[in-house]
Amino acid sequence: MVREALLYERLPGARVRCHVCQWRCVINPGKVGVCRVRENRDGVLHTLNYGEVSSIAADPIEKKPLFHFYPATNAFSVGGWGCNFHCLHCQNWQISCADMPQESRYLPPDEQVRLARHHRCDGIAWTYNEPAMWFEYTLDSARMAQEQGLYTVYVTNGFMTPEALDVIGPWLDVWRVDIKGFTHELYRKLAQVREWRGILDVAVRARRRWDMHVEVVTNVIPGWNDDDEQLGGIAGWMVAELGELTPWHVTRFFPMHRLQDVAPTSLDTIRHAIEIGHAAGLKFVYAGNVGRQGEDTVCYSCGRTNVHRVGYHAEVLALRGSSCAHCGADLNFRTAASPGRHPAGEDAGSREEEAP
Ligand code: SF4
Repeated sequence: MVREALLYERLPGARVRCHVCQWRCVINPGKVGVCRVRENRDGVLHTLNYGEVSSIAADPIEKKPLFHFYPATNAFSVGGWGCNFHCLHCQNWQISCADMPQESRYLPPDEQVRLARHHRCDGIAWTYNEPAMWFEYTLDSARMAQEQGLYTVYVTNGFMTPEALDVIGPWLDVWRVDIKGFTHELYRKLAQVREWRGILDVAVRARRRWDMHVEVVTNVIPGWNDDDEQLGGIAGWMVAELGELTPWHVTRFFPMHRLQDVAPTSLDTIRHAIEIGHAAGLKFVYAGNVGRQGEDTVCYSCGRTNVHRVGYHAEVLALRGSSCAHCGADLNFRTAASPGRHPAGEDAGSREEEAP
């Protein structure tokens, strides 16, 4: 569905500037932005993909991956079309790089919420492609989902603007963000993005201003971002800005899209990434795409297992709210029994603090 977009300004000569993501495209009449899903029609910016769905699944939340948020629940996972990045290793390039097909399915926000409930999901995750690409739709849907007691998740490259975050912030519970590396060169070569550090600022804003639960994923690609500068940079920044209890998922790369000639990540490299995370001070570093290893949550204080995971199946063994049921250490979990922000808005009044 085509609608007038939010968050843009009109410029002389019927041009517009979009403020949804950090490209801040200036778009001439009849043209689209970098994402190709926002079009300037006679000086009015339109979103071309409101509610146009490419993929739907009732997924275990562990698949996002999200390990410290409502473990062992299902998230109704919805993807659309388009992306503002053009990553060489994109796993979903068929939907992120494609123009929206004519036969795309329209799913109104209320129908999305109804389907989530029908499939016994506890929340909705916008995933598979960059959710900011259909910002207006996720905003309407997130508000409706939270009002009905569902949690809401963005699985994102993190490139949204601070002002867009502030619009949707009251209605989002989770910022599951990819941090692909820690240098200009890496982001420029891998994702074709130059000014990438705003991703870090927006992640911190999601955490501090909006009290979202944040987890970070880094897909470790041999020869690209598996060096100590990239991995140590991410881990050090996480400890300093998000806190040592923030989960970091270091996942194996497999040949994909335009990186077909790069070998899969070795287990030794993943083990080294985990060591780097621990050396930086992170308490929870998880291996991804490695089989039955490195996915349990183990209490850093008493050494006992809190959540056991096999594949996407999670079994909660010893959690009390956000803490270890054995020793009481804070494990930074959000569950129905933990303090802090929850869906359904019962503590909404505490959300709109000023940014530090
Ligand atoms: S969402 Fe980003 S890429 Fe798309 S038009 Fe807006 S600023 Fe450009």
